[in-house]
Amino acid sequence: MVDELADQPSAEELRVWDSQIVWHAFTQMAEYRPFIVERAEGCTLIDVEGKRYLDAVSSLWCNTHGHQHPRISQAIRDQLDRVAHVTSLGMSNTTSIRLARRLEQVSPPGLQHVFFSSDGSSAVEVALKLAFQYWQQRESPQPQRRKYIAFSNAYHGDTLGSASVGGIARFHELFAPLLFDVVRLPLPSLVHRPRTMTPEQAREEYLRQAAQALGENQGEVAAIIIEPMVHGAAGMITQPPGYLRGLRDLATEHDVFLIADEVAVGFGRTGKLFACEHEQISPDFLCLGKGLTGGYLPMAATLTTHRVWQAFLGDYAEGKVFCHGHTYSGNPLSAAAALATLELFEEEQTLEQLEPKIARLQEHLQRIESHPHVASCRQLGFLAGIELARDPESDVPYDFAERRGQRVCDHALTEGVWARPLGNVVVIMPPLTIALDELDQICLAIERGIEIATND
Ligand SMILES: *Cc1c(COP(=O)(O)O)cnc(C)c1O
Repeated sequence: MVDELADQPSAEELRVWDSQIVWHAFTQMAEYRPFIVERAEGCTLIDVEGKRYLDAVSSLWCNTHGHQHPRISQAIRDQLDRVAHVTSLGMSNTTSIRLARRLEQVSPPGLQHVFFSSDGSSAVEVALKLAFQYWQQRESPQPQRRKYIAFSNAYHGDTLGSASVGGIARFHELFAPLLFDVVRLPLPSLVHRPRTMTPEQAREEYLRQAAQALGENQGEVAAIIIEPMVHGAAGMITQPPGYLRGLRDLATEHDVFLIADEVAVGFGRTGKLFACEHEQISPDFLCLGKGLTGGYLPMAATLTTHRVWQAFLGDYAEGKVFCHGHTYSGNPLSAAAALATLELFEEEQTLEQLEPKIARLQEHLQRIESHPHVASCRQLGFLAGIELARDPESDVPYDFAERRGQRVCDHALTEGVWARPLGNVVVIMPPLTIALDELDQICLAIERGIEIATND
């Protein structure tokens, strides 16, 4: 066995092991066809045969500055020469401290404390549990505040707490008996609003629903959780302008926490460092993951306010400590990658450089939107979703089992573009550093994919 591993396995052996031993996430293993990356550079993935593919979805929404960026790679190597890991339970390391300080500086005002974890789902769990515990033990406790308001079709991760506030039936319905109940609101969707409504009318209607839910559960709600500006896994569903700000105001008015899950939209994806900046709001909890380390290493963070922090202070015997932690929380290698990622935003003026690419993406989408089987194109910054439908005019969708989105991506792969859809929604969100001609190549391959995948 040792000998076998020491030898370089052939591409064929890897394919066999990959389909027979590795259990892939969100993948039907009975029909899995191996796609095995051997290395990557910039925005290009290179497979075991040496074939090159553009990374159209940033390795599942997390890569920001491209693969093998020398600055990030070097930061990880330098850290490796100091220490790879120490715990964050009752002790610290220089790199995670610097990262916490940096996050505090760049995040929306008022978020002064940082709790590290290892993935986005955990960052959400932490926010939910901190909010809950806050109401139990603050100076004048309100222990009856234990409900959460969340949105149908939202996605906050796959652990049981994050799945409870998530609302995508196809992912989590089976586990319903294991999940806690939440107060559910319809998705505030700019795209799927009633056709008779203007965006302003839709915003007011969605806010009225939120106000009503808060009123009906007066004094019982711990927090509202939202993916700010865009519900990602729901299909890149953009919100009416002003909605997020309105929700912030409602939360304040009812003294309810607002949890912003920026795991998908944080770190420049929407054209600003954080999506909350679009409406100039500060949440009470900010969940970060995915792009935090530029897509290099696992790390997540939950930021919160001094008000929350203070409610956890006291004598040891009072038991106000937050009993939650992950072995690799605040890992220094990940922190080094995250610090370098944040520094690159300044050194390379990433967001300024992104503007012409956002405009180019918009041009492509305007053309693609006229296709007879494209129901709508959504875009915020450098994130886009193209929804396919059998008959967009009369709102007749494609049956889920037809896998139209996957068929588009299957075609794109033959043109050297790797993408992964959300059901009937084709997603485009390449690394922020992609070149204009590479972006063109992605959009054109996907456009031809749409032609081919919808011609029957
Ligand atoms: C991906 C995602 C998560 C979960 O993050 P993991 O690192 O996969 O656990 C949570 N919230 C949102 C909005 C996401 O897109």
